Amino acid sequence: MAFFGTNGVRGIANEYITPQLAIDVARSLGTYMGSKGVVAIGRDTRASGEMLKSAAIAGALSAGLTVINIGICPTPSVQYYVKEYADAGIVVTASHNPREYNGIKLIASDGSEMSREGEREIEKIYYSKEFNAASWEKTGDLRHDSNANAFYLEGIINSVDYELIREKKFKVVTDTGCGAGSTTLPFLLQKLGCEVITINGQVDGNFPWRNPEPTPDVLTELADIVKKTGANMGVAQDGDADRAVFFDENGNFIEEEIQLAMMAKYVLARKKGPIVTPVSSSSRMLDVAKQAGVELVWTAVGSINVARKMMEIGAVFGGEGNGGLIFPEHQYCRDGAMACAKFLEIIANGQKISELAQSVPEYCNSKTKIRIKDSTATMEKVKKEVLAGDNEVDTTDGVKVWYDDGWVLIRPSGTEPIIRIFAESKTEERADALMNEGVELVNKSK
Ligand code: MG
Repeated sequence: MAFFGTNGVRGIANEYITPQLAIDVARSLGTYMGSKGVVAIGRDTRASGEMLKSAAIAGALSAGLTVINIGICPTPSVQYYVKEYADAGIVVTASHNPREYNGIKLIASDGSEMSREGEREIEKIYYSKEFNAASWEKTGDLRHDSNANAFYLEGIINSVDYELIREKKFKVVTDTGCGAGSTTLPFLLQKLGCEVITINGQVDGNFPWRNPEPTPDVLTELADIVKKTGANMGVAQDGDADRAVFFDENGNFIEEEIQLAMMAKYVLARKKGPIVTPVSSSSRMLDVAKQAGVELVWTAVGSINVARKMMEIGAVFGGEGNGGLIFPEHQYCRDGAMACAKFLEIIANGQKISELAQSVPEYCNSKTKIRIKDSTATMEKVKKEVLAGDNEVDTTDGVKVWYDDGWVLIRPSGTEPIIRIFAESKTEERADALMNEGVELVNKSK
């Protein structure tokens, strides 16, 4: 199994994600960079964060890199900083994983996530343990910069219609879950002239009220406060604040797939150009693209694939159906605070979030998973079988079979011995039926 998963390396802090691991990852990165350059290191709010960040700093200094310690920052804030001031970045974060987890994510010099090729090179060095150790006089310098978040918020403000939003004096309720977004989102909203009501807005690595994953079942208080205070919107973030989820003015949760498609619709009404999303995303994106007369490009799952494709084709918008939206005018990565500012711009332009959400086509989804020993061999058989059939097949990531009225996606998990099956159609019955066709196909190919 690869060392780096879809989003860096993750595990239980001080069990799998140990100081030694953090040191060695940083030394591997330093070796990969030829012991030259500047690396910015930031972390989310997890209790184990300072321990692991200190270890990563030591590893990078040992390899001869100059380190800028930027403290507690959302992942997109580290990315924005790296793009301007560093040659690479290290984020100590486990994103939305539960309290006890931590992890490490690497950032490339342009601020995007480290490419798969880069990760593979670094992984090789990590396993070989052949690190560049700088001679004593060339061990690195450590600097501190406490302005990374302020710089990041400035960037967001410059990417939206700041004056218009400020005029409206919106009321917004936030639940940053005691994560890294607590250091940025409420302050962004203040700068945007909003009255801000915060819950879980204190930095607390024990996450006393909820785990970092912002699912609707743990956000009922947020929804209630939106309703009771007549707020314009509610917003919650995951632990490293690259994703955000939203509640409309009635306190209703906006499903992430709808969030993605409605933002695409808003962007495309102002600027025409291709949009990008992974094959796992809803056909809502396709419908929105068709309506606007633009191209939709499907990629493999993972925000890095979406971001890189967006850069390649000059897309106007992209994102994943999990609350990770990418706005190229700001930066090529998922950015929860940027998404929030854009939602305010939508309301400022006179549209209610609930109305825009309802204007996006409806779909039904079904999903399941099958435990399997050798998913590679099974996937090969599945692919052969569907390619011999009459339906349109997309093999960008797993196997996606298109029907007249929906699709089924069969994808092996990157981290577990299972194959996941997703289906989508206009009715629940048909989505279930398509999912079952997928199940049958996998069972036949085992
Ligand atoms: Mg995250």
